[in-house]
Amino acid sequence: MKKTNPFYKSRQWKSLRKRFLEHHFYVCKYCEGEANTVHHVVEISEDMSKALEWDNLECVCPPCHNSIHDRMKGTLRTPLEQTNEDGLSGDWI
Ligand SMILES: [Zn+2]
Ligand SMILES: [Zn+2]
Repeated sequence: MKKTNPFYKSRQWKSLRKRFLEHHFYVCKYCEGEANTVHHVVEISEDMSKALEWDNLECVCPPCHNSIHDRMKGTLRTPLEQTNEDGLSGDWI
């Protein structure tokens, strides 16, 4: 689907990612399962300057990470669209 950004192979990222996971004890932010993934809230394809910003990171497990990205893609399997009908915010996070 999309090719991996070379950023993810950089030493800077690898060490930051490890520190971030350790800081959160490898606990998923959403389900408290075992996290091994660091998600970028603002994706690096959108804003590369946030790529190494601690505040832009989330410690997540693979299933939660997938659902975050599914949501972002707009291929929603969630009732999000209905909530929008009555003017409520569709903000999940
Ligand atoms: Zn999770
Ligand atoms: Zn992600």
